[in-house]
Amino acid sequence: MLAAGQPRLHRGAPGRALLTVLSGPSAVGKSTVVSRLRVVCPQIWQSVSVTTRPPRSGEQDGREYRFISEQEFDAMAARGDLLESARYVGYRYGTPRAPVAERLDRGVPALLEIDVAGARQVRAAVPGALLVFLAPPSWAELERRLAGRNTESAETIARRLEAARAELAAEDEFDITLVNTSVGDVCKQLVALISAQGADAESGVVRQGISCNSELEGTRWQRLRP
Ligand code: 5GP
Repeated sequence: MLAAGQPRLHRGAPGRALLTVLSGPSAVGKSTVVSRLRVVCPQIWQSVSVTTRPPRSGEQDGREYRFISEQEFDAMAARGDLLESARYVGYRYGTPRAPVAERLDRGVPALLEIDVAGARQVRAAVPGALLVFLAPPSWAELERRLAGRNTESAETIARRLEAARAELAAEDEFDITLVNTSVGDVCKQLVALISAQGADAESGVVRQGISCNSELEGTRWQRLRP
């Protein structure tokens, strides 16, 4: 059994993955990881999803999400403007296609933070994408994090826990699992994985590493256990 914090590889060694998907149950800490990465490693472009969910306090339109109406969402979906979309606990979420395609065309590494249903659609649409599952250290910890969010009603928390149970069961569909023991460690592991696309397969030395600010300096691709 692997120690907590050690990546678990599911589908053989990751290949060249310009598009990385970070998924996992709600409240596992995905958004904390991506907001930290946005600061320490802006070279990794992050998609801003559209959602019909109302903003939580502190969220800004265009930063965490673009908050749109059901009608606007329908129109985007009908035009084929969404790379993937899903309904999550009553609200709709989707990844605008054009900004992702534009980054990938220019060779910019891109990161999506989306739910498991969306990750499956990206797998089908972009076969080379690297799918990363962020797992909680334990179920009890996930419950604690979800219940500790003061932004949701008891009913919403119960529904999100139910969804989380189903999402945890999907772990094996992903290329790799990172256990969220610390935000810093997960950021380092993610940067290492994303940098690995430019790594020398034999030596593991990053040739075209992504330079991050000092907080993440020293990050190197680590060969993952089969
Ligand atoms: P929250 O409402 O907590 O911000 O997000 C709820 C769930 O929706 C989270 O699991 C989050 O990762 C996911 N999510 C956010 N944006 C997208 C998206 O564009 N597409 C999909 N499929 N899921 C998303």
